[in-house]
Amino acid sequence: MTGTEGHNSIGRASREAFERSRRVFVDGTTRVTIERDPIPRYAARGAGAYLFDLDGRRFLDLNGNFTTLIHGHGFAPVISAVTSQLRSGTCFANPTLAEIDLAELICGRVPGVETIRFVNTGSEAVMFAIKAARAFTGRASIAKIEGAYHGAYDWVEVSQSSTPDDWGPESDPASVPYYRGMPASVLDQVVPLRFNDAARVEQRIAEHAHRLAAIVVDPMPSRAGLIAPTPEFVAAIQRAAARHGIVLIADEVLSFRQGFEGASARHGLKPDLFTFGKIIGGGLPIGAIAGHREVMKVFDASGGRPLLPQGGTFSANPLSMVAGLASMTALDQAAFDHLETLGDRLRTQLGSVIARHRAPFSVSGVASLFRIHPKATLPRDFREATPSAAEAHVMKELTRSFAEAGIVLPVGAAACLSTPMTTGDIDLVASAFNDFLATRTDLIESLAA
Ligand code: PMP
Repeated sequence: MTGTEGHNSIGRASREAFERSRRVFVDGTTRVTIERDPIPRYAARGAGAYLFDLDGRRFLDLNGNFTTLIHGHGFAPVISAVTSQLRSGTCFANPTLAEIDLAELICGRVPGVETIRFVNTGSEAVMFAIKAARAFTGRASIAKIEGAYHGAYDWVEVSQSSTPDDWGPESDPASVPYYRGMPASVLDQVVPLRFNDAARVEQRIAEHAHRLAAIVVDPMPSRAGLIAPTPEFVAAIQRAAARHGIVLIADEVLSFRQGFEGASARHGLKPDLFTFGKIIGGGLPIGAIAGHREVMKVFDASGGRPLLPQGGTFSANPLSMVAGLASMTALDQAAFDHLETLGDRLRTQLGSVIARHRAPFSVSGVASLFRIHPKATLPRDFREATPSAAEAHVMKELTRSFAEAGIVLPVGAAACLSTPMTTGDIDLVASAFNDFLATRTDLIESLAA
């Protein structure tokens, strides 16, 4: 850090990089999810829990590439596994032992996962899980949670970012297009459900059951608020899927990090199919579709053309496989206990800070995930979690003030902890939040207005 400049002012090196990138990228970046204020901060390197930007500033990284880096940056077992694999080959048109190792670990760990297939991203995993459900049921439509993010597949993009202006009635959320020109046929094939609306969800699924292949549900959808499912909601979804022969897909691409056995096990959900990504690749690109053999058999090509062909040039590439195995092997029960303890400590401390300042904030999350809401009452679903303009402004200012304190806090998504973090890091986050609430009373008052 230079002088009294503060962490948040983007340094010269990032500004220069952005100037170059604007010539080759239409908006200066190559993924919409990159945060910018007003331009992005360029990463130079990472080390453990910390990220270093091009200007040499150090930040506690609560983003972890959107919750991927559960062991932080430069995790030694991943480095050595990948380095050694690089020497023997990065990809083959043949299967390798590495894919069996990672598959055995996941199948051995997650209840309900009998068999698995690897792809390269979470989006691809969700796409194939939905196709598998279609091939299994012979139906085309899906139900999904309003506001939930499941990657870049048209059907799951429906109602991903509905607004109060277009989301429709509470009992029948509208299918809202995500981009101009989204085919009407896609909108017709998606039934948005409200998260935690146990009273309505069964009826809504029953109304569309004849055409539903799948119900796609992230047990704790991050962008929809990172809110825990109520037991009644879990039971209602489960009953509806079973009654109508609909494939229940748990998208655990992000939420798998909630426990040794994943998020569904934690919240009592028993899906037919799972999708995984992020942490199972140890920091390299990955995705997976997994679940009951009965449904997964749609991929079975041993007798000729399967019901659902699935390939992919880089699927199960050995670099992602060995990185994932190294990362997941280190994620033993003790590692999860450590993350759980850190997460509980953080949520408790943030709660105390809120109480001390009597500020209209709440905190959601479990295990290594948390999200701060500029809302006095903890939201129960996406609509309640959607910030007003004033609330969104406050969250932007909060993220700025965290950056000044040397902390990267994601805006509008789940923040996460990593195994190299310590109680000192947690205390730093709580103290940055305390400073914000103590000094920005003008802003906080704007919330009450
Ligand atoms: N599903 C969920 C729940 C996710 O959080 C994400 C990524 N944030 C995806 C799917 C898509 O994964 P990817 O970015 O690897 O395509």
